[in-house]
Amino acid sequence: MALERDRLDVDILFVGAGPGNLASVIRLADLCQERGGEPPAILVVEKAAEIGGHQLSGAVMNPIAVAELIPDYRENGFPFDSEVTQEGAYFLTPKRAIKFPITPPQFMNHGNLICSLSDVVKWMAEQAEARGIEIYPGFPAAKLLFDGDRVVGVQIQDRGIDKDGSEKGNFEPGPEIYAKCVVLGEGPRGSCTKQLLDAQPQLRGANPQIYATGIKEIWKIKPENHVPGRVIHTMGWPHDAETFGGSWIYDMKDHMLSIGFATGLESPSPYNDPHDKMQRFKLHPFVRALLDGGELVRYGAKTIPEGGLFSQPRLYTDGALLVGDSAGFCNGERLKGIHMAMKGGMLAAETIVDALAKDDFSADGLKGIEDRYRESWAYAEHRNSRNFHQAWKWVQKMPRWLGWARQAPFFLNTGLAMITGGRGLQKMITAEEDYKHMRKLSELTPAQLANKEKVEYDNKYTFDKVTAVDFAGSRHETDQPHHLVVADTDVCTDRCTEEYGNPCEHFCPAEVYEMVDHPDKPGKKKLMIHHENCVHCKTCDIADPYARITWTTPEGGDGPDYTRM
Ligand code: SF4
Repeated sequence: MALERDRLDVDILFVGAGPGNLASVIRLADLCQERGGEPPAILVVEKAAEIGGHQLSGAVMNPIAVAELIPDYRENGFPFDSEVTQEGAYFLTPKRAIKFPITPPQFMNHGNLICSLSDVVKWMAEQAEARGIEIYPGFPAAKLLFDGDRVVGVQIQDRGIDKDGSEKGNFEPGPEIYAKCVVLGEGPRGSCTKQLLDAQPQLRGANPQIYATGIKEIWKIKPENHVPGRVIHTMGWPHDAETFGGSWIYDMKDHMLSIGFATGLESPSPYNDPHDKMQRFKLHPFVRALLDGGELVRYGAKTIPEGGLFSQPRLYTDGALLVGDSAGFCNGERLKGIHMAMKGGMLAAETIVDALAKDDFSADGLKGIEDRYRESWAYAEHRNSRNFHQAWKWVQKMPRWLGWARQAPFFLNTGLAMITGGRGLQKMITAEEDYKHMRKLSELTPAQLANKEKVEYDNKYTFDKVTAVDFAGSRHETDQPHHLVVADTDVCTDRCTEEYGNPCEHFCPAEVYEMVDHPDKPGKKKLMIHHENCVHCKTCDIADPYARITWTTPEGGDGPDYTRM
């Protein structure tokens, strides 16, 4: 029997309280006030227990969008640590850090702001609430509701179901929230966005979205090692020649350091382990010297949508708009998405105002967002990087004996793109889903097979995943169904162990997946899921070689605590 659920009706529903949606509600409230008349009923729902609790980014923010949104943002107390005053880019070998004589344009950050996205989002929520917007934290949108092809709302995750699926004493069915327009800004690989793109594959971009997983830590360091306004990026070690990615090191205030390492998920290695790369990176003499005598304060992980323009989905459909990381508003080349997300949100708000005036939230009524986007600086920025990350596929096709010279086509394309307005070597470089790049164990070289060793953890500079999760503050009700849904766990036992060596044990940065001795099949392993460790990065939903893992929303408020991240 179908559950009876409470029903709530609003005009515009925003799913996710990230920088895209919050910029959108602020802009929408301002435009509605200028227009006068009865304001629409606007609601924002957010899965984190507190606003900003699930927000993680480097972050160096280009202030172009916030300056458009709230011109006196600095006088209004916009939270940032410092302006960027010096930057450097390095290529790392195992022992040396070789500084680029000139900082590549992608890494130029003068005038940008070092900040915490979690703090920025809290501030944006205050700005929105001051405009009368209601924001409900602890409300994860579990299911997108359709009427035929039209998006009409979301169903919030139920609360109080035990691990076997039975109702507990505190059971509360999640309400259904209906709206004329639903704006999906759920972050990378949003679960409602995924449902929408599965239901309406015609909305998908020309390329699938491709991702890197960024591991971020905040360290309290010695005052003599701290340089306010400093921004460092590195390439090279500990990545091998065929793995995409690199690092950031940003000096925050109060002698804090944001240090992070991004690892491309199109790695051919089933042992690709973003957490391990990060721990190794900290042991490089160049990095280790900065951390000397310091202590770990926070840990977290997030996937970064790096596919750029060609991976963006269509931004509108009947009854819905897409913004932020969910819509690929991220410049992977510059490792920046906050300003793009905000701009996408503002364009959505302007589109909604038109739709309100005509009372038309059909795809026709919302398609104006595409024209607005094409005329914006965000589109021009995306166009200038449109063939960036996907050119990495050529590196993986070059003969291994070339070593680091294998990266030549990627850098040739990047350099050429700078003088051809983003074109590079081809009009459009195609991409395929990250997991399709993973090679079977039988296809690995002996050196690749041996490359599954993890760094030794000293609990001073390097930490195992379970210890690291403590620094993410991740908490989940244990007696609930796993929110990591694996379609067929027999595949883990019978095929994956043999074919790929169970890569989930490697790519998950929170040790959620563990293969344990199978109780019924001697000599075989069985998947155990420690869902309570999950830091909501979505890597597993993207990197599983059989694409059987679906990240779903746990009970409202569960997940990491990304304060200051
Ligand atoms: Fe990330 Fe998936 Fe691991 Fe959760 S289970 S931390 S979403 S990889």
